[in-house]
Amino acid sequence: MESVDYLISGEVLISSPDVDPIPRGAVAIRGDTIVAAGPLSELVRRFVAQRTIDRPAGLILPGLINAHTHAAMVLFRGLADDLPLKTWLEDHIFPAEARLTPELVRLGTELACAEMIRCGTTGLVDMYLFEDTVASVIDRVGLRAWLGEGIFDFPSPAFSSGEEALRETERMMEKWRGHPRITITVDPHTPYTCRPELLRRSLEVAEANDALIVIHVAETEWEVEEAMMHHGCSPVRYLDRLSLLGERLLAIHCVNLTEDDISLLAQRKARVVHCPESNLKLGSGIAPVPQLLDAGIIVALGTDGAASNNDLDLLSEMDTAAKLAKGLKRDPTLISASDALSMATTWAARALHREDLGCLRGGARADLVVVDLDQVHLRPCYNPVSLLVYAARSGDVQDVMVAGSMLMEDRRLTTIDEGRLLKDLHKIES
Ligand SMILES: [Zn+2]
Repeated sequence: MESVDYLISGEVLISSPDVDPIPRGAVAIRGDTIVAAGPLSELVRRFVAQRTIDRPAGLILPGLINAHTHAAMVLFRGLADDLPLKTWLEDHIFPAEARLTPELVRLGTELACAEMIRCGTTGLVDMYLFEDTVASVIDRVGLRAWLGEGIFDFPSPAFSSGEEALRETERMMEKWRGHPRITITVDPHTPYTCRPELLRRSLEVAEANDALIVIHVAETEWEVEEAMMHHGCSPVRYLDRLSLLGERLLAIHCVNLTEDDISLLAQRKARVVHCPESNLKLGSGIAPVPQLLDAGIIVALGTDGAASNNDLDLLSEMDTAAKLAKGLKRDPTLISASDALSMATTWAARALHREDLGCLRGGARADLVVVDLDQVHLRPCYNPVSLLVYAARSGDVQDVMVAGSMLMEDRRLTTIDEGRLLKDLHKIES
């Protein structure tokens, strides 16, 4: 018998959205890695575990990856709603952010982490300010994360210039290099808030460090008009002219695209992150996800920040992503439940160049979630993927493991003191 740290078993196991679920499945884990995933009857014959967690009504699935957020923006949840993006950003969010301090970012990030863990999220791609503070929260809380300091032409509350934010990015890369869960990215905010020179410098830093570039692109019609006026082409083509379009680029939103943009994104193998609820709420439009997938583009899913969503719940985001495409094109076959789950798991992992994430198999990282199916809204269980995408709610998530450590066990967070966190929140509300 082989010894492992954990044997986690449930009613059913989804090892990957494109593989048949395994009834009475289990996962064996040693350190931060999955040793095997399969039928419990086979695993109990092979492994002896230090700890066994059996959830007879549990649906075990790969941890969800939120491929775009601004975690600490939970502090601005509901601050300004029902406004156009430009007004919302320039008249409300930027002034509120001007008052941000590392302490507030620490508090907001911890609050966001608690919310995300409760929704079954094990990984996040975060672009924000004072990102080194975000990294220290993530380090302590135990989530997996790709983190980038927001880079702008104008002074941000954290840095007086884009060049300084880039230097901070390089410093963070040195500091966090080799961390098992934290990866630093290069995050120019948008093509219109960064000069061409700053975008070129961002690319240089990314290439020198083999890092991903995260940028908001083609979010609104206004942005496309601006690009046409200033550069004579679409934001996507503009980024291509600057050589930014490529495998290391995570293009966030991609709502307003031409056919030419879609072929260019596909040709250059850029990754797209779909944030449907934020795009709907800001009235930006709807990204052409079925066309992107048809073109062979890898699409991941994100919530965006809680100021434009207004939650960080990937379960409801999957539901929205699936239904939105169907309703828009009057075709219920578009974006299946399995596609929606792929966007939050396997496709997100591919977008991040991490094939060891997003699925439960031997050799993959031990990032997993257990959903408690013994709920009136989750029975009967004909198709666990359908239940997860169309019926499950964040309160149904029972356990969350990241890199072999339990961050939530039987609905209790193990690394965050929620009572203390809420008390700290009340202090800033008053
Ligand atoms: Zn965003």
